[in-house]
Amino acid sequence: MSTVCAVSTPLAEGGISVIRISGEKALEVAQKVFVPFSGFGRVADMKGYTCAYGRVVDPASGETADDGLLTVFRAPKSYTGEDTAEISCHGGVFIAKKALRICLENGCEPADRGEFTKRAFLNGKLSLTQAESVMDMISAQGEYALRSARLTREGKLFRDISGVRDRLVKILGELAAWVDYPEEDLPEIEENALRAGLENSIGVLEKILRDYDCGMILRSGIDTVIAGKPNVGKSTLMNLLLGYDRSIVTDIAGTTRDVIEETARLGEFVLKLSDTAGIRETDDTVEKMGVGLARKRIDECALVIAVFDTSTPLDGEDIELLEYVKSRGKRLVAALNKSDLGTAADKSVFEKYTEHIFEISAKQGEGTEEIKKACQEIFSLGGYDPDSTVFANERQKNCAEQALKKLNAALDALNYGETLDAVTVMIDYALQSLMELTGERASQAVVDEVFSSFCVGK
Ligand code: GDP
Repeated sequence: MSTVCAVSTPLAEGGISVIRISGEKALEVAQKVFVPFSGFGRVADMKGYTCAYGRVVDPASGETADDGLLTVFRAPKSYTGEDTAEISCHGGVFIAKKALRICLENGCEPADRGEFTKRAFLNGKLSLTQAESVMDMISAQGEYALRSARLTREGKLFRDISGVRDRLVKILGELAAWVDYPEEDLPEIEENALRAGLENSIGVLEKILRDYDCGMILRSGIDTVIAGKPNVGKSTLMNLLLGYDRSIVTDIAGTTRDVIEETARLGEFVLKLSDTAGIRETDDTVEKMGVGLARKRIDECALVIAVFDTSTPLDGEDIELLEYVKSRGKRLVAALNKSDLGTAADKSVFEKYTEHIFEISAKQGEGTEEIKKACQEIFSLGGYDPDSTVFANERQKNCAEQALKKLNAALDALNYGETLDAVTVMIDYALQSLMELTGERASQAVVDEVFSSFCVGK
């Protein structure tokens, strides 16, 4: 495999930038572009897990680009499983690019997105699920998300799925002997044990799939729309949830015309918020577009926080919103705002639409806890076990669903007294799906797809 290099730290100003070189010629390239200060020996002689302080030089001109550290990893004891050299130079965009260019001119090719992690996978350092979790760790926005990604990175998902795989392989072994050599004096297939094995595997997959939605929410955040007629306090509530002033808050009805999207952290999870124009009939062309957008966002989102000014009686527009959200079957939190001004609205109206009704006063900074509680109830996050195994993405989920489908079909075949051949075929399909999940039998296209979502340098 070629020797590749990339800047592995973000291309921005910072303390240090790291240029990672991996491949057969990694140390040969490092030897050319990095000259240790006296006393640090020669790069070619450096042992794995050692560092040298020296200069990054351009061999063509002899010019020094920077001074920094070189860390050497010898195959297979490196992230990629190949010889790897990492140059830590000063953290400037220009310096990092210059050091990278020098490496490229001296025997390296530019690394593709996720190339280092892909090599780690191809060299057997990581399973595909572990490799995917690397990206999840990088993008984790909360403690739960990080913990679940870390558990996967440590191999929990792989182990759980491998447990099912091993059980299926064992069952298939017994079945194969029976199907292929019926005349041999093999012990009878113990149907109850076979059924128990299948049921157990089905149980494990069902549990992981159940936790998927929860895991998804923790990773990506809850896609949330704050809706309500003008002036009820949507922007004020959004700012409260965000913890700083982002939307324009004014007394003029209809100020929030664009859809503004932000991310708010509520404890362990994240709301992806859009603050929309109110839903109402209007002749203003710009506002009409905003109302259309608000409806569209409601159609797409996972949660609607509908805001009402309950210091005044509800009107047709409020009911229109409640009806619209209900007609779309969306999860709804009713935020009865301006509670500091007293209540003039009939609160029982809301009970027809949702159980999650909270009196808040966004202006006085009261409402975050209520919204958090509602989210916990709605998405059952309260009972979420952060140590449970969760799939990282749709790819993994689809593989597990396929496997589950085939295992259920195998169980049905067994229960309806079909031939053991039929049972065997179904279990074999399930096994293949599981091995695609872990990457043991994933096609090149699947592997390429997985790593294409990575950043360069990882
Ligand atoms: P939006 O049009 O729904 O986004 O409403 P805004 O957030 O712009 O708020 C409209 C007006 O209501 C502003 O003057 C806010 O200060 C005021 N307001 C918002 N929330 C409250 C509240 O809880 N109590 C009171 N008394 N006023 C509020």
